[in-house]
Amino acid sequence: MTQNETSAAQGCIFCAIVTRQAEASVVYEDETVVVFMDLNPVTPGHRLVVPRKHAVGLEDLDGASSAHVWSVGHDMARALRRSGMSGATLNGTVSPNYLSVREWRDG
Ligand SMILES: [Zn+2]
Repeated sequence: MTQNETSAAQGCIFCAIVTRQAEASVVYEDETVVVFMDLNPVTPGHRLVVPRKHAVGLEDLDGASSAHVWSVGHDMARALRRSGMSGATLNGTVSPNYLSVREWRDG
């Protein structure tokens, strides 16, 4: 059993999604991260960038993986902007173990 599978068995929803033990609308994945639509989107297009390696906090990731999470989030934000969400800025929020990318509206 891999580290992710073990963590999924322990109830980590992100690892469950990464290992496909839980359903999610995956929009991008590579060897380091999986990006999927937020189940409770704050705004249209709201997505989460999650590292494949289980991490409680960003400090648990090695530097290259942490940088890649941010790099992919940057690409996702750029794609959201290109999809026609003009007039809005894009917000990347770093939570303990994922990067949230969504349109940001004032008020
Ligand atoms: Zn996990």
